[in-house]
Amino acid sequence: MKTKMKTNNCGELRAANIDEYVTLSGWVDCVRDLGGIIFVELRDRSGYFQLVADPQVNKSIHDVFSKLKNEYVITVKGKITKRPPETYNETLDTGEVEMYPEEVTILSEAKTLPFVLDDTNVSEDIKLKYRYLDIRRREMLNNLKMRHKVVTAARNYLNSEDFMEVETPVLINTTPEGARDYLVPSRVQPGKFFALPQSPQIFKQLLMVGGIEKYYQVAKCFRDEDLRADRQPEFTQIDLEMSFVEQQDVINTVEGMLKAVFSAAGIEINPPFKQITWREAMDRYGSDKPDVRFGLELFDVTDIMLNSDFQAFKDIIAAGGTVRSIMIPGIAGYSRKEMDDIRNLAVGFGAKGLAWITFAENGEIKSPLTKFLNEDRIREIKERAGAKDGDVVFFVADKPKTVFDVLGRFRLYFGEKLNMINKDEHALLWVVDFPMFEYSEEEGRYMSMHHPFTSPNPEDVDKMESDPANCRSIAYDIVYNGTELGGGSVRIHSAEIQKRVFKALGISDEDAQRKFGFMVNAFQYGTPPHAGLAIGLDRLIALLCRTDSIRDVIAFPKNSGAKCLMTNAPTEASEEQLRELHLKSTVKPHVQ
Ligand code: ASP
Repeated sequence: MKTKMKTNNCGELRAANIDEYVTLSGWVDCVRDLGGIIFVELRDRSGYFQLVADPQVNKSIHDVFSKLKNEYVITVKGKITKRPPETYNETLDTGEVEMYPEEVTILSEAKTLPFVLDDTNVSEDIKLKYRYLDIRRREMLNNLKMRHKVVTAARNYLNSEDFMEVETPVLINTTPEGARDYLVPSRVQPGKFFALPQSPQIFKQLLMVGGIEKYYQVAKCFRDEDLRADRQPEFTQIDLEMSFVEQQDVINTVEGMLKAVFSAAGIEINPPFKQITWREAMDRYGSDKPDVRFGLELFDVTDIMLNSDFQAFKDIIAAGGTVRSIMIPGIAGYSRKEMDDIRNLAVGFGAKGLAWITFAENGEIKSPLTKFLNEDRIREIKERAGAKDGDVVFFVADKPKTVFDVLGRFRLYFGEKLNMINKDEHALLWVVDFPMFEYSEEEGRYMSMHHPFTSPNPEDVDKMESDPANCRSIAYDIVYNGTELGGGSVRIHSAEIQKRVFKALGISDEDAQRKFGFMVNAFQYGTPPHAGLAIGLDRLIALLCRTDSIRDVIAFPKNSGAKCLMTNAPTEASEEQLRELHLKSTVKPHVQ
């Protein structure tokens, strides 16, 4: 759209525009005074364009230009001209053209910025404090453009598949995702609180009861968790739910959506993606979000160790533990110090210890375990590992969860260290057949692995009470290069099964009624079978932008202390506000 202040964008001007009269507006990116002739790089969202003021050509324009400083906002009018060929700037799309303005107006002056925009040494705190300036950086702007492209592609795809975007409320009561809620006190209902949604889970299921059939939403979610490096207290999901579908239908939809999204980001991917069960993912990769761009697969040696003389391992196995291994090729020459570092690494990952067998290049076998393992056992291990001379096989024995966690992280560590990961590959896969429950040592009870509305696998329904550890659900995750992009499940649509699940989770009837009673009630009025999934949008975009931090793809993120450094939120409430909300702070006001 042309406006009086701007007929064209800076970045779009080309040789084809020569002789056109245009009005451009933007920021002074830099000013160079070369012996009286002043060059200004004018910047707007679209790119850069060169302006020139020559006192011989137009004295008054030159006078204004001599006042310009970086980040002033100006508007200029004039004719697009061809640059002398020896001054072409190959690095700029607009490098063949320039303008000697005939009019110039300073719309706004700018103080010196608190940091130089493209200085890579500026601390993140400063950038977050002045985020509105940080957004002027090309990299940040490009990340936000990518975000826009991705969301647009997802919406277009889902719209074309007959989905409806429906907004769900933000002031609600507790949600079932298992994190801590953000609470909002109610003024008009003294002593009562809203919770902010951890996801639209309950509402999207109720939309299915309401007959919407295909729902999606680009939804804000809130979880009051201790922030790990890549978490944000508020984040965005592409959330969807469908009626009259099975797991494979959701998978097909999400594959179509991801194909469209990746394509918008310039990456061609080819569904259908591989599906592996949760069990297989753990056994082979030690992770429920395996990076399958490289091998280094784990293998089970529990049976071999049971046949050995190694009592410590046998005791662990007898107590329900497992012994798993990983073979790392070509590191038999590591020094003692390097092996000690590797042991410390494993301990840092949570192992109580680390054992290994080194198959040296000269055929020698070195291992703290040789006194417990006879030649046959060692041959069996070497064969199962597919090891050659020069390789090392590591062993971890513990509870399965610990073994998988340690070896899974070990695998990733060596994958990186030995440069086994092809960074240009896009490995997408589904992990299916997640367990229904997961035992929480902390809580001393079984918890939902996904959430309590996830359907048990019909083959395992009767194990829910008797053998919860081996009951599978119909839940699935989509994994991209070792990162979980999102997950979902087929939902329970029978009030009776829902009650049994609450019971298996140790949620009393009373509690279930109080927290989710309206949902259980709703299910009594005709509920379609339904299933859905949510994609973590911030993480997806960060991966597509090849940045490690989701803060880089959120316009106004919180820092790692869950604080907005720009607005200073959260801040103390005034006495008056607290009184109105019927609250009393036990924290002494802290004067900054
Ligand atoms: N609400 C779930 C989540 O946020 C996703 C789903 O089950 O659709 O992980």
